Amino acid sequence: MRVVVIGSGFGGLAAALRARALGHGVTILERLDQPGGRARVFRRDGFVFDAGPTVITAPDLFDELWALFGERRADHVAFLPVTPWYRIGFADGNSFDYGGDLEEMRAKVASFSPGDEAGFLRLSARTRDLYAVGYLALGTVPFHRLSTMLRAVPALLRLGAWRSLYRFVSRDIKNESLRRVFTLQMLLIGGHPFRSPALYALIQQLEREGGLWFAAGGTVSLVEGLVALGRRHDIGLRTGCTVSGILVERGRTSGVRLESGEIVPADIVIANADAPMVHGTLLPPPLRRSAARLDRQQASMGLFVLYFGTTRRYESIAHHTILLGRQYRALLDEIFGSDAVLPEDPSLYLHRPTATDPSLAPPGQDAFYVLAPVPNLRAPIDWSVAGPVMRDRVVAMLSARALPGLESCIVSESTLTPADFAHDYLSRDGAGFSIAPILRQSAFFRFHNRCKAADGLYLVGAGTHPGAGVPGVLTSAKLVGTLLAEAA
Ligand SMILES: Cc1cc2nc3c(=O)[nH]c(=O)nc-3n(C[C@H](O)[C@H](O)[C@H](O)COP(=O)(O)OP(=O)(O)OC[C@H]3O[C@@H](n4cnc5c(N)ncnc54)[C@H](O)[C@@H]3O)c2cc1C
Repeated sequence: MRVVVIGSGFGGLAAALRARALGHGVTILERLDQPGGRARVFRRDGFVFDAGPTVITAPDLFDELWALFGERRADHVAFLPVTPWYRIGFADGNSFDYGGDLEEMRAKVASFSPGDEAGFLRLSARTRDLYAVGYLALGTVPFHRLSTMLRAVPALLRLGAWRSLYRFVSRDIKNESLRRVFTLQMLLIGGHPFRSPALYALIQQLEREGGLWFAAGGTVSLVEGLVALGRRHDIGLRTGCTVSGILVERGRTSGVRLESGEIVPADIVIANADAPMVHGTLLPPPLRRSAARLDRQQASMGLFVLYFGTTRRYESIAHHTILLGRQYRALLDEIFGSDAVLPEDPSLYLHRPTATDPSLAPPGQDAFYVLAPVPNLRAPIDWSVAGPVMRDRVVAMLSARALPGLESCIVSESTLTPADFAHDYLSRDGAGFSIAPILRQSAFFRFHNRCKAADGLYLVGAGTHPGAGVPGVLTSAKLVGTLLAEAA
């Protein structure tokens, strides 16, 4: 059958490969001038800046894609270990090196906050149970039937998976800094640690199971590796073409229309475009969800990202550094609240890939990006004004806390704001991670991988089950593969 994939994010690329492995003819249509979606690359002035994901967990999900065609990922893309996984710096000047196996983490917790050692072991046991139910058992099944959800409810209730992540962690961990350490992962998939369900604590176990890696040459080498794998197996990729509508005839999808007016016929359409946009604008009007219904959904937060090189190297800075501001809950409420404002004292994630792979910058220099969670476009913020304000705020904070003298050694800088996320990726509300990972938008209540509105239409990517983050979107592609195989 002819398959068209709308969008070439990791979810789209993986779904295309899975469809091809089932014997379908596959074409990917991407609106940007390069593949990868949020994982695209900016190459400038000798620097390589990965635009988005940099933390690779669950490496086996990538290995599976090469294995579909009898190949080995390691023959094409090397995964380099990163130590520590993250360095978390607190406003009081202390820091915590997160990562490693259970024993290493136990020792780190014991030396940071001796009273929390036993609690940490209890927390780890509970996150292991959540991982077994939430990831191994449920994350790997499509959730388009309510019965699947109902079957899962007793186990999830027993494990306290519906509680807020922060409450779940606080039961065992008493030190406030450590509570932040064990809940901030939520921010990396767009969630509010106080409002997202504890189910997502399984991420801690996911990291421990597969380790944390960086692709040699940057995340772009994974994107390029998957594109090359597709090319070797006759997957077509057209960049620079935006799909303006999904065609449906007598209840079944028949292809897509491009903005240029061109029709691309297909028997199966897999949409990696933002799921709320698929349901709100790409489907024919009678099949769309109402704007009111889509408005009731909660979008994930926005992101402000500054990409920059420096004329010197900052050797002491770890590959992944998180700099927390003084406030935690207050900052989160500032970003996620209905009256969201630009944060005065933001928390930052600083990426220094040249700590692991110096080839990503000219000799003696560093490549960086810094990311600050900010309100999405539902907040009345004019990013043409707020962008430069945020840039100066972030640079000042970095200069004071991590990169002394930064102001005078920045070269080659550019930014992405929520307005760019809306414009470039057609992300509803300029959200960084599609719809937010809250209970009423998880599992059965998230966008389904098989679309009820039209036969032959499937959805993959951050807005769909199981959710955002690279492991999430690769899993959604695996689920689409399962559904396609069942339908064959
Ligand atoms: C700055 C940043 C850092 C991150 N860091 C991490 C990390 O370290 N680890 C991690 O696991 N996750 C991370 N994430 C999250 C992760 O990157 C995303 O959840 C994931 O990559 C999204 O993949 P996706 O398949 O949903 O597609 P996307 O990457 O969102 O791609 C969708 C593609 O569809 C295209 N498209 C949309 N509409 C159309 C249309 N109508 N026609 C044609 N094309 C269209 C878009 O242009 C885009 O290329 C990060 C995200 C960001 C933004």
